Amino acid sequence: MTNSELLVSWRDAPATHQPEWPDRAALGDVLTRLSAAPGLVTPNACDSLRSRLAAVADGEAFALQGGDCAETFDGVTPDAIRNKTKTLLQMAVVLTYATARPVVKIGRMAGQYAKPRSSPSETRDGVTLPVYLGDAVNGFDFDPAARVPDPARLWRMYEASRFTLDIVAGHARDGYAGLDQLHRWNRDFVASSPAGARYEELAYEIDHALRFMGACGVRLDELRSVEIFASHEGLLLDYEDALTRIDPDSGLTYATSGHMLWIGERTRAPGSAHVAFCRSIANPIGVKLGPTTTPDEVRSYVEILDPDRQPGRLTFITRMGARQIRDRLPELIRAAQETGGKPTWISDPMHGNTFLAPSGHKTRHLADILDEVRGFFDVHRALGTHPGGIHIEFTGEDVTECIGGGDEILAGDLHHRYESACDPRLNRGQSLDLAFDLAELL
Ligand code: PEP
Ligand code: MN
Repeated sequence: MTNSELLVSWRDAPATHQPEWPDRAALGDVLTRLSAAPGLVTPNACDSLRSRLAAVADGEAFALQGGDCAETFDGVTPDAIRNKTKTLLQMAVVLTYATARPVVKIGRMAGQYAKPRSSPSETRDGVTLPVYLGDAVNGFDFDPAARVPDPARLWRMYEASRFTLDIVAGHARDGYAGLDQLHRWNRDFVASSPAGARYEELAYEIDHALRFMGACGVRLDELRSVEIFASHEGLLLDYEDALTRIDPDSGLTYATSGHMLWIGERTRAPGSAHVAFCRSIANPIGVKLGPTTTPDEVRSYVEILDPDRQPGRLTFITRMGARQIRDRLPELIRAAQETGGKPTWISDPMHGNTFLAPSGHKTRHLADILDEVRGFFDVHRALGTHPGGIHIEFTGEDVTECIGGGDEILAGDLHHRYESACDPRLNRGQSLDLAFDLAELL
C-alpha cells in the first residue's frame, strides 16, 4: 500500500455494511445532535485500557472481553445489565485466581447495537423484507415498517449506551464488584448448577485467603472496586464519526462511543473506510481475523493502524474455528512479529464455530469453543508469544442458545429459551464452565 493510499480519509474509502437511510435529513439532524452531545467515555479511560492491553501483550495480564452478539434496546434494564456484569465478574474471579494475574474486563456492551449481515434481505413464508441490522438501524420484528432504517435509533443507541455505562460504573465502584461480594453474586445460582457449586468452593478459598491477609493487617479497601471497560464493533461510521472528540490535552482524536472499537471480519479490508476511520482515532483498536486472513494483511494492519508500534494500541482477535486455528494462526503471528510490533492477541472462539442445529437454530458447541481456545494457546506457546485473552458472546440469563456445558443443553433444548437477536450466546453456567476449563489451560 502506498503512502497516499494510507492517508486517505475514511470518507473517501469504500464503506460497506452501511445502512441506506431513506430519510437523509433526519440522519443529518441526529448526527448534528450527536456531535454536540457529551462523549460517553473519556480519552483518559481509553488510554488506561491501552496500557492494560499492553500488559496483556507482555503476558502480565489476561483480557476477558464479552457480552451480547447484539445488544437490544429492550435488553437495557438494570437487571439484565447487572446479570451480565455479574457473569463477567464471576468469570474474571475464576481467571484471576487461576493466573494470579490481573484480568482486564472489557464488556461487549454499551454500543454493540449494529450488525453486519451476510444477506441484505430475509425471506419467510414467501415474504421478503430487508434483514435486521441491529437496534441501531431497524427493528427485529418481521414487519415491513419495522425493517425500515430509522436514524432516530442512533440517538436511542447513544442513550442506551449511556444508561448501560452508568449502571456498570455504579456496580464497579459501589462495592458490589468487591471481592467480599463473591458469594452474593452466586446466591441465585449455587444450588441449581454444577458451575455454581464449583464457583462457590473457589469463593470460600478466596474468602479464606482474604481473611488471612486481613488478619495479617493488609488493608483490603482496594478490592472493593473494579475497572470495567466498554467495547463494540465500530460498524456505523456516521455514528462513530459524530462521537469523535479532540482531547484538548494531547490534541488527539478519540472515539468517545466506547473505550475500544474493533473492526469486524466483513469490513476489515486494509483499504476499507473502517480501517481508515480507526487509523484516525487514538483508542485501542481490535481487528477480527478470520480464516481467510493473509500474512500480508496482518502486516498492513500493523503499518496502517499502529505506525508507532505503540504497546496496547492494536489487538488481533482471531476467529478461525476450532478446525482451522492450529493451521492458520502461526503464519499470522510470524507476520506480525516481522513488523517489529507487539500486538495483543485475543481468541474469539465463537464466530468460527457457528452451525445450524436440526431445529433451524443457529448454535455453537461449548466443546468446539474450548477446542479453539486450546488451539490458540497451543500455537502461542509453541511460538513463544502470549495468548492474551478471550472474546466471547454471553449473557447473564439462563438462555438455551449454545449446546453443551455442565448443566448440559442438548440440540433439542434450544427452543426452550432462545432469545438472541443475532448469534447464540453462552448462558451464565456455560460462561463459568468455560472460565473453569480455561483456568486449567492457564
Ligand atoms: C461479531 O462479533 O458479532 C461478528 C459479527 O464477528 P465477526 O466480525 O468476527 O464475524
Ligand atoms: Mn456475533
